Amino acid sequence: MMRSYCYATYINDDRRNKIVNIHSPIPRHDKTNFILLQSNLCKACWTCIEVCPNGVIGKVDVLFGWHRHARIDFAEQCKGCKKCVITCPNQAIIYTYVPTKKQPE
Ligand code: SF4
Ligand code: SF4
Repeated sequence: MMRSYCYATYINDDRRNKIVNIHSPIPRHDKTNFILLQSNLCKACWTCIEVCPNGVIGKVDVLFGWHRHARIDFAEQCKGCKKCVITCPNQAIIYTYVPTKKQPE
């Protein structure tokens, strides 16, 4: 599947005030340990932001509303509750967590 990648995410990063440098290794803002947020499918309804109990998801809203989509702001806070996955009307968020099998001793 084609996945879009958004440099505007970093330009809009007012909360962390990061300096944009597209030549440096860029941290990903589309996944946590449990979910993947496909911004190319996002219609910016912001429902996932409202239902997430842990403040994981934030907004990209730049160029006077022309470029808008959800993104992962605080991946480490995701507990894998799936509320965002179930709520998204566009299937933009998928649950990716695969529990590892415990090895027999
Ligand atoms: S799985 Fe739960 S905690 Fe993680 S981003 Fe979605 S709603 Fe938030
Ligand atoms: S619920 Fe889905 S379509 Fe709405 S903002 Fe979140 S990812 Fe985008």
